Amino acid sequence: MAWPRSTTAVRAMFSKLLIANRGEIAVRVMRTAKRMGLSTVAVYSDADANALHVAMADEAVGIGPPPARESYLNADAILAAAKQTGAEAIHPGYGFLSENAAFAEACAAAGIVFVGPPPSAIRAMGLKDRAKALMAKAGVPVVPGYLGEDQSPKRLAEEAERTGYPVLIKAVAGGGGKGMRCVDSKAEFAAALEGSRREASSAFGDDRVLIEKYVARPRHIEMQVFADNHGKAVHLFERDCSLQRRHQKVIEEAPAFGMPPAMRAKMGEAAVKAALAVGYSGAGTVEFIADASEGLKVDRFWFMEMNTRLQVEHPVTEAITGLDLVEWQLRVAAGETLPLAQDEIRLNGHAIEARLYAEDPQHDFLPSTGTLERLRLPETVRVDSGVREGDAVTPFYDPMIAKVIAHAETREAAAAKLAHALEETQIAGLRTNTAFLIRALKHPDFVAGEIDTGFIPRHQTELIPPKSDPSLHLLAQAALFLARERESAHRSNDPWDRDDGFRLAGDARETVDFMFGGKRKSVQLLHRHDGHLDIAGGTAVPPTHMNTVRLKSGDIAVFDHGETWILPLYDPFAAAEEQGSAADRVTAPMPGKVIQVLVRPGETVKRGQPLAVLEAMKMEHTLSASADALIATVDVSPGDQVNEGAVIVRFAKEKSQAA
Ligand code: ADP
Ligand code: ADP
Ligand code: MG
Repeated sequence: MAWPRSTTAVRAMFSKLLIANRGEIAVRVMRTAKRMGLSTVAVYSDADANALHVAMADEAVGIGPPPARESYLNADAILAAAKQTGAEAIHPGYGFLSENAAFAEACAAAGIVFVGPPPSAIRAMGLKDRAKALMAKAGVPVVPGYLGEDQSPKRLAEEAERTGYPVLIKAVAGGGGKGMRCVDSKAEFAAALEGSRREASSAFGDDRVLIEKYVARPRHIEMQVFADNHGKAVHLFERDCSLQRRHQKVIEEAPAFGMPPAMRAKMGEAAVKAALAVGYSGAGTVEFIADASEGLKVDRFWFMEMNTRLQVEHPVTEAITGLDLVEWQLRVAAGETLPLAQDEIRLNGHAIEARLYAEDPQHDFLPSTGTLERLRLPETVRVDSGVREGDAVTPFYDPMIAKVIAHAETREAAAAKLAHALEETQIAGLRTNTAFLIRALKHPDFVAGEIDTGFIPRHQTELIPPKSDPSLHLLAQAALFLARERESAHRSNDPWDRDDGFRLAGDARETVDFMFGGKRKSVQLLHRHDGHLDIAGGTAVPPTHMNTVRLKSGDIAVFDHGETWILPLYDPFAAAEEQGSAADRVTAPMPGKVIQVLVRPGETVKRGQPLAVLEAMKMEHTLSASADALIATVDVSPGDQVNEGAVIVRFAKEKSQAA
């Protein structure tokens, strides 16, 4: 049998591997490298000196300041680190330099193996327009649209018209959904083009765009391919990544629900053809868009782009095939033939991955930075993470906390298992999308396979319900926690003092006040003379599976089915302060750059009206008015770099009715 193979040959080619990345993917690559007997070198920015990927590596080299441009994208510093440590190969992970042909070339020139495709294949697929033209020539179906050289707004608008609305404007150099705009009609085109160009030039330094027909009821289905340096290529089945937000993947699964075998075969063939057409080697993903308005049909899918790297969602493919894709990458990079032939690759069961993010669904999914004061990740399923409890999520990099992956016999079982696993997570210190993910996985339409890329926006209100008040049950949990905390502090402070005042005096009542949503929430504790502690009124059943901690701020955090409830103790002065201040200004929710200011002092605005656009983490975020108000001052100008909490606009004390 060809599998499992010995790792001697790989180690003969390179025994030391540098991982030019951070976070979960650096950790994940190292896990396989270690298992194969390779020694590992981490690189890190100043912000990551104490990160998990650094702790896990055999050696680590600092490569510069926190901004990616000065560290993880600094090819010279990374090559110098490889030289200094004697690393013979570099794995780029995903993102950063993974699809940078010049970097792959520089590795070769330095005599270092780049674990990825040849530079020529990266180049061929790097720009969406060229890739599409190439695929069309190779006979792979591509989405209709305009790929032209002429980038004048006039010509682009004409081509959009010719393609037929709705259309998509895409950055030619695009990735991660950045620079993409869906346009429904001619009237919206000019503004959308401007926004797309701005985002594209800031994210990729290239503002060229292409126009594509917007496919109806789109499902994103992609094929995992693998090729070796001996002219062989195979596919490892498809993944469905239709659950997206702003064109970014949120939940991914394999195989695709309702995929006809004939379509799988045809898509697999097209993907292998695409890989062979560009002389591919290593792991790659060929992304297709399918029109699912009448279910998946063998003649209704089109090539979108090829990602010439390991994909974020590769674990679902690993789950259904039982293969280690990083091991395959390293073997191919060492010059081995593909470990398995197409007919030896089997599909087993169903796997679903959820991307657990530090972001706030209640506030348009703004990235949430801070310290992970509490981090308990599921233990019943695979979890790929690059952070530990106590680590910080900084504004410098992608705010993903973990990927959580469940595998089961059926899709339904995998979804239930994943939702259950997410319900076991406990995270405090920043906001996460955990509860949102759970709701998506349990949504009847998701369970029924009624998915397309519009799923999340369509079910927005069910997936992100307004935050309700904490139940009495929950408050009771927090109050009991406080009482017990005080009791044990008492005991440890003075072991001889058994007299805690409550027991001797018979039953005693005590009120515990919390704050929630600016309001006081009270619970009455009943200290019985026999030492028993209860909730007065007795309606709250003693909580069972909830869990409670006290945060550094002194606030109480209660974890309940993937939700984190933060309950500060009631402080009448703070309450007054909060009510007064929150309403009279809009502040930057995170560090970023002011792109646009949309209001002027003296202007009255309506609740929900956009006030300014902030660019943070390479995405644009609109800041809106939380109530009808009169603008008193505008405290920033376009181009300003602002810190978290910086005042953007102030409202007048009272909404002035007078002219
Ligand atoms: P994939 O296509 O691999 O599922 P996406 O398309 O969602 O991934 O986003 C991939 C791109 O997003 C990467 O190429 C990178 O630019 C960026 N990205 C996402 N997460 C990270 C991360 N943790 N570190 C670096 N880059 C990231
Ligand atoms: P990126 O490089 O940012 O990943 P893609 O071209 O892969 O860009 O597109 C990202 C997402 O946008 C897709 O996963 C899909 O949801 C949506 N999309 C792209 N092209 C189309 C299209 N022609 N019709 C409908 N949706 C599309
Ligand atoms: Mg894509």
